[in-house]
Amino acid sequence: MTIPDFVVDNVDKLPLTTRFAPSPTGLLHRGHALSTLLAWRLARAAGGRFILRIEDIDTTRCRPEYEAAILEDLAWLGLDWDGPVWRQSARGPVYAEALDRLVAMGVAYPCFCTRADIAAAASAPHGPEAAIYPGTCRHLAPDERARRLPQETPAWRLDVAAALAITGPLAWHDSFAGLQAADPAAQGDFVVARRDIGTAYALAVVVDDAAQGVTDVVRGVDLFEATHGQRLLQALLGLPAPRYHHHKLVLGADGKRLAKRDRGETLAALRAAGTDPAVLRAALIDPVRYP
Ligand code: GLU
Repeated sequence: MTIPDFVVDNVDKLPLTTRFAPSPTGLLHRGHALSTLLAWRLARAAGGRFILRIEDIDTTRCRPEYEAAILEDLAWLGLDWDGPVWRQSARGPVYAEALDRLVAMGVAYPCFCTRADIAAAASAPHGPEAAIYPGTCRHLAPDERARRLPQETPAWRLDVAAALAITGPLAWHDSFAGLQAADPAAQGDFVVARRDIGTAYALAVVVDDAAQGVTDVVRGVDLFEATHGQRLLQALLGLPAPRYHHHKLVLGADGKRLAKRDRGETLAALRAAGTDPAVLRAALIDPVRYP
């Protein structure tokens, strides 16, 4: 794919604003500490803003004790933030409005498939998680859709081909990896609203990054691929594209990526073990060079 020679980057006119946007679904680990330290330093070095946003839309997995632990971890790391803490759980109507706009544009459709249906239809080699949605409900006849909608609560998916037909080719910029041609089609028709919570990470994150004037998104490279779809949502909703900084993941002693479930690796465990936060900060930041 050739890289289009434009990037909608009107965040250039905004004051530099970074954010840390954790989901309180577990205890933070060193990888989260690196993300938040890099975001905080970028903002502070530029005299900009650093904000904290709690991404707690997934009410099935978020816990208040994890949110409390996030605040304790940031205080321990010596990081402060600007303005009030936003909670995504309070912003359901804003995400619903964004979904309505996508539906009105004809680029979002209801999906009645179960995970098992999707896995079977795609015959995914790695199980349902890795399955690319085969587009089953994109082809539902209008009368079947109309009949099922009042009876079942669907998820909503983005019709990526229809969306790209509206936006044309898109690009985004990553400070480590350079200019990227957006390739949202590689993910298939991704979910923009889950049936159980009425929204989805991709939609909530682009709506809130724009609403909060975030100019620079600093996060782990595990979210690199998700950025393609987020760029498409930004273009559809007329939102500016932030500059992205996807940093390398922090690995455990075993060379594997850290997970919230590895309790020994959490910041809470390091704190309890008497780790000096200044030493941890230096150990995390020193190997990372901003381009
Ligand atoms: N809430 C997401 C997470 O905790 C991060 C979102 C983002 O940085 O875009 O994994």
